[in-house]
Amino acid sequence: MRKVQATFQCDCETRVHRVVRYTDLPAQWEPDLRFLVLVQSEKERLGVEDLRSAGLAHVAWVESAALEDGDVVVPNPNRGECAVLLRESDAHHALFMTNRCNSLCLMCSQPPTPNNDSWLVAEAVDAIQHLRWSPPVLGLTGGEPLLLGDGLRCVLDAVQAHHPRATVEVLTNGRLLANSEVATQILQGLTTRVRWLIPLYGHADFLHDFVVQVPGAFDETLTGLLTLQTYQQEIQLRTVLIEPVLQVLPELAGFVGRNLPFVREMALMGCEPIGFALANRELCEVDLGHWGDTLAQAARILRRHAIPHLIMNVPLCALPRSMWSLAHRSISDWKNVYAAECGRCVAKSDCSGLFAWHESGWKPSFLKPLDTNEVIA
Ligand code: SF4
Repeated sequence: MRKVQATFQCDCETRVHRVVRYTDLPAQWEPDLRFLVLVQSEKERLGVEDLRSAGLAHVAWVESAALEDGDVVVPNPNRGECAVLLRESDAHHALFMTNRCNSLCLMCSQPPTPNNDSWLVAEAVDAIQHLRWSPPVLGLTGGEPLLLGDGLRCVLDAVQAHHPRATVEVLTNGRLLANSEVATQILQGLTTRVRWLIPLYGHADFLHDFVVQVPGAFDETLTGLLTLQTYQQEIQLRTVLIEPVLQVLPELAGFVGRNLPFVREMALMGCEPIGFALANRELCEVDLGHWGDTLAQAARILRRHAIPHLIMNVPLCALPRSMWSLAHRSISDWKNVYAAECGRCVAKSDCSGLFAWHESGWKPSFLKPLDTNEVIA
């Protein structure tokens, strides 16, 4: 989530607001919503103050060059900053649901904390209500969103109520869906279109359990996957490419093809060099440029089993030419950067680039700017 500098009307609430232009406020006004009016002049600022004095408590002005009309934000007047939860011009849209988790993955980019952050459910519902545009895809991330139980269901239902055309992508380890009570609570009667993004790190329990650092996790995740299939839910398997996983990637691809043929697709993902990945650097830092044959072999196996597959978070120059068509620009806007050498690359607009923190972590491979001949070859 990005935070931007802003100046606010001093009594503005630290709650979800929609950013709106002064001239658009009358058309967008709804009594249950809170509005931050992006003022451009003293006249507009005084106009908002007049509205507030007249009793419109849910309206306040804001000045900021970094906010956009339609942003869904939480202002923090004391710090002079605003958290931008959702922005229409972004390519990716996601809400953070909890920092708690029941796994401790070796490469976790968001190390969990035990604190009670259940208020995030109400904030997410609020954000969904304040969205004036409907995202085609809305991600729900954590932490482990299934820990929220009916709180997660509440958020899914809010999406269906306010943005029925949106697909929700829930990033979850799926383990709690092995519990029939939790599965019923979340899945029974669900009408929201949901794609469940579930990590799988091995074709055998000791591998997956080692990566997620929980004995029994493999069995729970598989049961969760079968439960989702029973409820005819869409599933994307996610596999982060760290060394122990790369060592068994072809076997994992074969396992998925033989045992989980119902999944919609399998995503092979570059590791985000932050969080626990830095602490477990010897297992997580790999030069993907050296694993091209393994990636190509896994792709061949998945193709043979008719499992659609894609590559995320990996620059084109780290992949064999034959896999470029599988690569997606998948890194969230606010944490996506390109290196100096990318300025000379003709494929930059099609490339996922790098995580912003690659400087303090690592690059996924030695970068090699591509020229026109390589791209059209
Ligand atoms: S040089 Fe940069 S833009 Fe070009 S393929 Fe590599 S990472 Fe992508």
